[in-house]
Amino acid sequence: MTDIIDKASENEVAFLAEALYKATKSSEYQGESNYECDDCGEPIPEARRQAVPGCTRCVFCQEYFEHGYP
Ligand SMILES: [Zn+2]
Repeated sequence: MTDIIDKASENEVAFLAEALYKATKSSEYQGESNYECDDCGEPIPEARRQAVPGCTRCVFCQEYFEHGYP
């Protein structure tokens, strides 16, 4: 019983380690995402950091940056 649980968590750890390794690799390649927005200083959500590797602004400031200030 315990063996099965151990095996399962072993596999899970290996899977997570691989995913983390790939994520690190790709973020090295594409540039590190900022933890905080360059413009307003607000924290950038983890989902955005993952979705847009190398992003430096929050969604709001990025919109302004791309489309210009009114
Ligand atoms: Zn911002």
